[in-house]
Amino acid sequence: MSDSKVKSGEPFIREDLLDIVRYIKKKRMFLGIHTNATLLNTKIIKELKAVLSEVDVIQVSIDGSTYEINRKMRMVSKAQHDLILNNCGLLVEKGINVKVNATITNHNVHDMVNIYSLLVDIGVNEISFSSVFLMRNSMHYTFMPEAEEILNAFVKVLIKSEEKGHPIPIVQDPIAVPYGDSNLISIYKSIPDLASFYCPAGISAIEVDEKGNVFPCPFLRNENFLAGNLLKTTLPQLWKKKNTWDIFRNKQTSTDLDCPDCHFSSICKGGCAAQSFELFNNTDCADPRCDLAKNWRYKYV
Ligand code: SF4
Repeated sequence: MSDSKVKSGEPFIREDLLDIVRYIKKKRMFLGIHTNATLLNTKIIKELKAVLSEVDVIQVSIDGSTYEINRKMRMVSKAQHDLILNNCGLLVEKGINVKVNATITNHNVHDMVNIYSLLVDIGVNEISFSSVFLMRNSMHYTFMPEAEEILNAFVKVLIKSEEKGHPIPIVQDPIAVPYGDSNLISIYKSIPDLASFYCPAGISAIEVDEKGNVFPCPFLRNENFLAGNLLKTTLPQLWKKKNTWDIFRNKQTSTDLDCPDCHFSSICKGGCAAQSFELFNNTDCADPRCDLAKNWRYKYV
């Protein structure tokens, strides 16, 4: 194992987190820590600086350029919003790599370009935009903007990035299933040898919970996908348990169920298996956020 991420919940609640960080670094692994940044302070940042290497990353979520928008997304107070921005600045000042992710919903889709500008001003090292993961029992479904709306807002970000001379890398776009957006089809068709957006679940990444249970990804933390427990079995043994990972390692296309005629099925493979399982109890259905898949569904249902 060469790469480790500490995330889910707020890791800095743990009083021994810095000990865990030191242990991981002693094992010479790359480290990413996902935090809401509200529990950071100058002392912790100084200690982090002493142990993190130049390739390690602190990831923070900022979903709005203003307190009002960030509050709608994350329920933060004004003091917390200011603290998050301030701590990002302190991390940058100390030379620690900061990646900021913004999840795009209809609360902040029109703020995407302002979020980008704010993060350029702070001087963070990477920006990613992510799409909403649709939860079966929540209202998040209604928070997802139309694909065209997301695309238009993202184009503004790209133009701004161009104007500013691309100061920081945008490492992820907010379009959930790029192949499934009818506006993007001609662009994708025109790119020869298009690289696959492959899902690392069970192929190059695993999820380990606080009890040592191992799953393919953070969105498939349930008993259907439990590979085993690291307190009882070694990682190499778990990694070789064929049946557990086959669904992910052998995923070829999603043509059996929802995407029978899709031109992109061999590269897209039906999108996110976890999203499909969340809504349809089946990892082989098409990602419900795909515009094209919605069309197939209407056609065949
Ligand atoms: S229809 Fe299926 S294979 Fe095609 S782009 Fe959508 S999710 Fe991917």
